[in-house]
Amino acid sequence: MQYTSGMEKPKVFVTRIIRDKGLDPVKETCQADIWPEEMPPSREVLLERVRGVDGLLCLLTDRIDGEVMDAAGPGLKVISNHAVGFDNIDVAAATARGIPVGNTPGILTDATADMAFALMMAAGRRVVEAEKFLRAGKWKTWGPSMLLGLDFAGATLGIVGFGRIGQAMAKRVTGFDMRVLYYDPNASSSTPDLPAISTDLDTLLRESNFVSIHVPLTPETRHLVNADFLAKMKPEAVLVNTARGGVLDQSALYKTLKEHRIFAAALDVTDPEPLPLDSPLLELDNCIIVPHIASASVYSRDMMAFLAAKNLIAGVSGERLEHCVNPEVYS
Ligand code: NAP
Repeated sequence: MQYTSGMEKPKVFVTRIIRDKGLDPVKETCQADIWPEEMPPSREVLLERVRGVDGLLCLLTDRIDGEVMDAAGPGLKVISNHAVGFDNIDVAAATARGIPVGNTPGILTDATADMAFALMMAAGRRVVEAEKFLRAGKWKTWGPSMLLGLDFAGATLGIVGFGRIGQAMAKRVTGFDMRVLYYDPNASSSTPDLPAISTDLDTLLRESNFVSIHVPLTPETRHLVNADFLAKMKPEAVLVNTARGGVLDQSALYKTLKEHRIFAAALDVTDPEPLPLDSPLLELDNCIIVPHIASASVYSRDMMAFLAAKNLIAGVSGERLEHCVNPEVYS
């Protein structure tokens, strides 16, 4: 639906300044209340600002539950998440109220897989530790056994969750002479163009030199990577998590890394976020942590904003969302 000058534009709340590719069309089409701060709106502010809106564009830092939906009121026609993951939204509560929830799949797949790959290489070859070593003035000479890392050629990568990003990760290692195993209970066993083998989780953990996590955070996957999971990994293995912090039990990981029961871990996501500076994980040289930046490439963030805006505008216009995580609201 095109809004003409005589029509009242739909009211929307946007919980942060997103990239112009999304913000511009939202400003053009809607009466947009855009939260201007770097920090997300507090719970009180969120509950206040959603009152009476037709649409909500939110980020993964906003917890959107039934209370927020009820605060918005019966006019709320769409919740558009600026992310592919939607564990910050109570989708069942939205469905119960007939509200479609949008997300931004696909366009951040490559950027996220690139970061998973970068973290895998960095942890395996001790890049961050080596850089700290140099800056600390510890580089006295070239040493035959100095900062030895792992080999990639001939090694096995185990991918847990073989959806868009998991498969993109498999594609990245094909030039590295690596074998790829994957575990995904519902994935089709045929993966055209990808030399990846479906297996059960125990086999994957037993045989993999690198384990990369790509599942969504759900009640079933919360703490999927726990003490038992880590104990099944090889002592020389590396764990990479670019999925969600809640998928990993961080205390179990700390214990495992501290006792050198696996080689290293590399995390893009933590629980909570931001990771408190007194987290014991930060004491460890064999743990790399970056601040949830896997999708932080220019194209990816431009397109996330664009798709989130597109979903929002479709929703407030009474049209079907291009990417809807609860399509049952339309039936
Ligand atoms: P996707 O295409 O839906 O892939 C996820 C796959 O995991 C699906 O095939 C899913 O199977 C499978 N899965 C679900 N539960 C599983 C389990 N218990 N064990 C093994 N596999 C399981 O999603 P995607 O686009 O690849 O994104 C994956 C996740 O990455 C997102 O949900 C998001 O949380 C995270 N992510 C993080 C960043 C970042 O910045 N760090 C960026 C993008 C995405 P079913 O479809 O059968 O459930």
